Amino acid sequence: MPVSPDDATLMDVLQGGRCFYCGEAVGAKATFDHLIPQAYGGVDEPSNVVLAHRRCNQRKGDRLPDAEDLDRFFAERRGSRLGIWPPLRALRDAEDGQEWIAVARAIAAT
Ligand SMILES: [Zn+2]
Repeated sequence: MPVSPDDATLMDVLQGGRCFYCGEAVGAKATFDHLIPQAYGGVDEPSNVVLAHRRCNQRKGDRLPDAEDLDRFFAERRGSRLGIWPPLRALRDAEDGQEWIAVARAIAAT
């Protein structure tokens, strides 16, 4: 299910009103960034989406989130109904150099 207005409001609260990537205030200009990019099978659901400035979203492009991004995301989502998409857990637990295959396997298993 795509991100609803209520989901976006909750995301904003969980992120403290800040952009997921640069940490600066983002407000009403926030865009939805897909942690696992849609180009690689990432779902358009709250469990795979964060709020970010358009420029930060574009700068991230089609890369996978790094370890620091994942730690921050897991901390923000702990106990939240927005949840964590299982392939993000697989990515966090992947060995170095195996990130893409771990994600692809986890997506295939969803
Ligand atoms: Zn930003």
